[in-house]
Amino acid sequence: MIKKVQENKDVVYICEICDLSYEDKEWAKKCENWCRKNDSCNLKITSHSLESES
Ligand SMILES: [Zn+2]
Repeated sequence: MIKKVQENKDVVYICEICDLSYEDKEWAKKCENWCRKNDSCNLKITSHSLESES
């Protein structure tokens, strides 16, 4: 399940498996699907997470 979290005015979507957060629900879904199947992170997906932005 993707967690939907309100942060100030912004809504972020969090992958419950790896705990990365995304502005875009679609990326959060992709992340979660990947995490569940592969038990690891996919850089192409995690690069879209808020944590990967500096
Ligand atoms: Zn994930």
